[in-house]
Amino acid sequence: MTQLKVIHGDIITIACDIIVNAANNGLQGGGGVDGAIHQAGGPAIMEECREIGYCPTGSAVITSAGDLQADYIIHTVGPVWMGGTRGEAEKLQSCYEESIELAVEYRADSLAFPNISTGVYKYPKDLAAPLAIKTVKEMLKKQGTEMEIFFVCFDAENAELYKKLIE
Ligand code: ADP
Repeated sequence: MTQLKVIHGDIITIACDIIVNAANNGLQGGGGVDGAIHQAGGPAIMEECREIGYCPTGSAVITSAGDLQADYIIHTVGPVWMGGTRGEAEKLQSCYEESIELAVEYRADSLAFPNISTGVYKYPKDLAAPLAIKTVKEMLKKQGTEMEIFFVCFDAENAELYKKLIE
């Protein structure tokens, strides 16, 4: 059954089949959620990322999950916010769409998303949250699939926004 759940916490702690990472184009790790996933998952994830080498903004790639409980990590690259006139919304939407596509392909029953682009990439949280929720709902419908979706909000502001929109 499709269920959208909001969690205020750390994505590393979520028990689910696939965890989505907010990566960068070079897939070389960084701070924020990316750093947390690589730190907790160990070096195997980075090795696979190195082999893949590059991921365009708005796209998603998949690796194993290393030492994490999940089966896979989907690495997707959100847009850097440049004021909203550089196709940021389309690219952010595409991150959620491609992630769901991969999750369906890999037969996930549960998927955890961080709040892509709303950290260092500065996408306004109040614009990103409704876009994420709408896109995920539409994509699951389009794919004709049921999945448990966790929107994992690390900061209180995102948690509030998502709770208001979902509950
Ligand atoms: P981006 O470069 O896409 O903005 P960031 O990692 O800087 O990626 O931030 C994306 C979101 O992930 C932010 O809302 C940030 O608060 C959140 N975040 C940071 N660490 C974690 C974590 N361990 N679990 C879940 N979300 C996290």
